Amino acid sequence: MRASSRFAPSPTGPLHLGSLVTALASWLDARANGQYWYLRIEDLDPPREEPGASDLIMQQLKAHGLKWDVWSGSDARSGALFQSNRHDAYVAALEQLIAQGQAYPCTCSRKKLQYAIDSGKTTHNPDGEIIYPGYCRPAQPEGLSAPQAALIFRQQDRDGCAWRFRSPSGDDFVIRRADGLWAYHLAVVVDDGYQGITHVLRGDDLLHAAPRHQVLREALGLPPIAVQHVPVVKNDQGEKLSKQTKAPPLRTDSQEVIRLQLEFAWSHLEFQMPRGWIARVSGSWKRLQQQPIRAYPPAL
Ligand code: GLU
Ligand code: ZN
Repeated sequence: MRASSRFAPSPTGPLHLGSLVTALASWLDARANGQYWYLRIEDLDPPREEPGASDLIMQQLKAHGLKWDVWSGSDARSGALFQSNRHDAYVAALEQLIAQGQAYPCTCSRKKLQYAIDSGKTTHNPDGEIIYPGYCRPAQPEGLSAPQAALIFRQQDRDGCAWRFRSPSGDDFVIRRADGLWAYHLAVVVDDGYQGITHVLRGDDLLHAAPRHQVLREALGLPPIAVQHVPVVKNDQGEKLSKQTKAPPLRTDSQEVIRLQLEFAWSHLEFQMPRGWIARVSGSWKRLQQQPIRAYPPAL
């Protein structure tokens, strides 16, 4: 099987310079190593999404010469995999974990967890999340048959419970939210497995997610993945470029600007990534620079 990588943006808005750095790093790495490079749209959280953002992201990637390989199971129009079409696969994964005694329903309110912090029963992790104090964790995990697990899932789901992964590390994180939305951690692991992803290069804002993904992959019987992180781009205030910090969208309306944006992203990588990595991908970078650039009219 050919090694594969992916870029997996959430369509909460257009790409900005920070996302271009991650996309470029992952594309260069895949191209330098002869891997497939897929596009996966992580549209799991409709309230946070912006209408039209997926199309805009695809246009921005194409304008910068970052073309993705069409994945066989993907949406026919775009060649990308949309997580919003993957509900049944996430249900199957959750039911598998329930059957294995590795997922349990959690009824803890935000208030209860805040109280656990205030009373010193737990603390925050480096990402600012409350480390789950284990209130709903069953003392004895019980193995169940597949039909029993499916029944339990349906019952608890009707009651609006969140589901947590019973992690061997003790860090029991949410894999399905009480509002019925799938958690990023479950979806990313299931889909990386589904798409046969072997290599991931992404922003280091997701560094602390890597051990969670590893234990979840093991629980679901999925093969290991080589994961590398790129230091994210920060603004003058030291904040990560993002929609929240009002990072301007990448422009696609002028060839000159597109080239400048690519050069900015490359110089960030040259500064931040190990020399050996830069040496490995520099041939792919040269080829990208020689590609004709196609400008698109502003879409916003
Ligand atoms: N969808 C995630 C994000 O936009 C990235 C997921 C990943 O690369 O693992 O932050
Ligand atoms: Zn709970």
